[in-house]
Amino acid sequence: MTQSPLLFSPGTGEYAHGTSPLSSSAEQHPGFVAVPRTAADVGEIVTEAAARGLVVMPQATGHGASGAVDEKTIIVDTSSLDDLHIDAESRTASAGAGQTWGTVNAQAERYGLLGLAGSAPSARSPGSPSAAGSAG
Ligand SMILES: Cc1cc2nc3c(=O)[nH]c(=O)nc-3n(C[C@H](O)[C@H](O)[C@H](O)COP(=O)(O)OP(=O)(O)OC[C@H]3O[C@@H](n4cnc5c(N)ncnc54)[C@H](O)[C@@H]3O)c2cc1C
Repeated sequence: MTQSPLLFSPGTGEYAHGTSPLSSSAEQHPGFVAVPRTAADVGEIVTEAAARGLVVMPQATGHGASGAVDEKTIIVDTSSLDDLHIDAESRTASAGAGQTWGTVNAQAERYGLLGLAGSAPSARSPGSPSAAGSAG
């Protein structure tokens, strides 16, 4: 099977970055690291994973990483998906999967708004359970 250019194997810089979670005690040895830059890329990665019989695991920072990740997994490194749109009128924010709470709230503050983040500004907003209601 031809390898998608979105997939990176062990030995590449992208694989090393994608398997270096902030929670450094987690062992991560996935089959591939995938690095999407657009929503369409994410679709292509999921299709590729299904064709290979692999599961996908999104990871923004690995702040919440725990447990082993084996070769049957593709870690999807979402850190490049950093879109952010704040609608002051509806008091909502739309953040890419790689956007951090620190940035979301720095922008929200300009409108007198605040997302219900945890205490870690480096955590990515979609990865935080508290993000669902406030920045979804
Ligand atoms: C040891 C430890 C200490 C912590 N300390 C703090 C702290 O001091 N302050 C604090 O605020 N929080 C803390 N946390 C909690 C952490 O911030 C949360 O786990 C948060 O979810 C991290 O988000 P992330 O996306 O940066 O991390 P990630 O590890 O990248 O993701 C967290 C989870 O969300 C999933 N996920 C990520 N992106 C997506 C997506 N786009 N779609 C679906 N699922 C997704 C991942 O698969 C993973 O299960 C701690 C967690 C741990 C394990």
